[in-house]
Amino acid sequence: MTEPHANTQISNSASVSGFSGPDKPSYDDYARCVHCGLCLNNCPTYKLWGQEADSPRGRIRQMILVDQGRLPLGDAFVTHIDRCLDCRACETACPSGVEYGKLVEAARAQIEQNYQRPLFSRLARDFVFRRLLPYPNRIALVARLLRTYQRSGLQSLVRATGILHLLGLAGRERLLPPIDRTFFFSQLGRTYPASRPRRARVALFAGCIAQVSFSALHDATIRVLTANGCEVVVPAGQLCCGALAAHAGVRDTARSLAHVNLDVFLREDFDAVITNAAGCGSTLKEYDQLFAEGTEDHAKAHAFRKKMRDATEFLAELGLSGHGRLLLRIRRLLQRHRNGNLARYFGGENETRARNQRPRHRHGQSGMSVTNARGSANPFHRARSRARHRTSGPRAGEKYLSCILSQASPVVPALLSYFSPMRYRQPRAPMRAECTAPAGTSQRSPAA
Ligand code: SF4
Ligand code: SF4
Repeated sequence: MTEPHANTQISNSASVSGFSGPDKPSYDDYARCVHCGLCLNNCPTYKLWGQEADSPRGRIRQMILVDQGRLPLGDAFVTHIDRCLDCRACETACPSGVEYGKLVEAARAQIEQNYQRPLFSRLARDFVFRRLLPYPNRIALVARLLRTYQRSGLQSLVRATGILHLLGLAGRERLLPPIDRTFFFSQLGRTYPASRPRRARVALFAGCIAQVSFSALHDATIRVLTANGCEVVVPAGQLCCGALAAHAGVRDTARSLAHVNLDVFLREDFDAVITNAAGCGSTLKEYDQLFAEGTEDHAKAHAFRKKMRDATEFLAELGLSGHGRLLLRIRRLLQRHRNGNLARYFGGENETRARNQRPRHRHGQSGMSVTNARGSANPFHRARSRARHRTSGPRAGEKYLSCILSQASPVVPALLSYFSPMRYRQPRAPMRAECTAPAGTSQRSPAA
């Protein structure tokens, strides 16, 4: 047991803890923190405000004090815990292996159970976490309203009136993602066959907001997987992963969503369950934390965790085939030219250095060579500038090749996408879907 916390247990037994009920930060988790502060500079809120109370170490300390009964679970505690982004950048810096995400989500669960927020906040949280996100039909309805708001010109009008600033909603409104024309909900229950000899059978986790705002990403993921020999099933009946609810401390909703998803994805034997959203993926891989050890759901979550893969993680394990290998070869070819004489000739050396090598500072030298210097005095800048502005004549092609080599132009994505199955924003129609809903499921898809 860690020495600095030896007195914590004594205090816990002697005073009334501010935490009660299920889902509270556990001593075993917070006792790992040795208060070294190595996480501080990784924390965006600490960098922004420079206050210990808004750092991971400070927040853990506050959790300990509340657990000891030495700090009330009141406004100050709630403010500092709420300000945490739950980005978990502090976890990667921590030498003690503190699972900070687990701690802050448990602290938020305690706030949800034992603290009364203002009325508007309670209503808004109740609507979003309990009455909207768990219901695909309601998400689709709200998305349609937002799409009308965004595409009818109403958004520009409302912004111009300044009413959003008066209501304090301008910042939040700016964060609204663009809503897609068609929603991915209509793809639930479909199976996409592998476009080459089958190497794996996988299930795609589609999420909630992603189905109305990132459906093109799902389409691209399916194209890449099928092109790499995967049969992709998009199981019907799947719901939001519950990450947003879990991050906000609404654990009952997160738990019930996890329960449904575990049933849906463990119903069939897939080689992997694929996600393309890191936020969803981290919660899906940690479903076991939502359930008590020894329960049936905990065992299911453990089995599910073994199958969960990010799309890139899965493809890296599987190995790219066909188009993917061609794409990599083109990338390597471009990289070689960018690093070579051809790139220098076309003025690409500056960018090559800036992007591929950090400036090399040696003792007694500035580290800035002629070719590294910025500004119009640099001969390579001038040469490149001339090449870019030349649109005709014997060396006109130079401009385009220069752009390709420096990856400064949309030509590169266009070129690569021609060879690659990753063609974004393509209509969904060309994709073939065979067999509809898996046996025993009803297809209740709220089409766009
Ligand atoms: S790096 Fe880890 S052990 Fe050190 S203060 Fe941060 S959370 Fe605690
Ligand atoms: S999870 Fe919270 S405490 Fe950790 S780095 Fe992000 S904002 Fe800071």
